[in-house]
Amino acid sequence: MTCELCDTDGGKLLWRDKFLRVIRVDDADYPMYCRVVWNAHVGEMTDLGELQRQHLMGVVFALEQALRNLLNPAKINLASFGNQTPHLHWHVIPRFQDDRHFPQPVWAQAVRMDGQKQPPRVSDETLKEELAKVLASALQ
Ligand SMILES: [Zn+2]
Repeated sequence: MTCELCDTDGGKLLWRDKFLRVIRVDDADYPMYCRVVWNAHVGEMTDLGELQRQHLMGVVFALEQALRNLLNPAKINLASFGNQTPHLHWHVIPRFQDDRHFPQPVWAQAVRMDGQKQPPRVSDETLKEELAKVLASALQ
């Protein structure tokens, strides 16, 4: 069985340690859409030990904070599905009033077909720096 999240990072790598990685998804409508991917095959949050859960969510929250600091979005959507892969990962999606699906989930039918104006997108380097800064204080 091949698994895309085992074979590749799954996007642009922003941060990693031996347990997990943070990537930015290649999505034209949602250029700041990120994921936190647990490196090993684990299906459910409750399959992780308590410390592992804390570590995973600590990184999810740090990523949320870094994206808020940089983008001031209308909302951050957090989601975990994994219906098609046993590879635990969290979606961390900054949302804006004028994005294609707002106020619906990004997986719903689009409510704006064109003319959407994405806010200025920060560079991967800027996001990496901010995430590292937030993580440095969060993971002490
Ligand atoms: Zn995998």
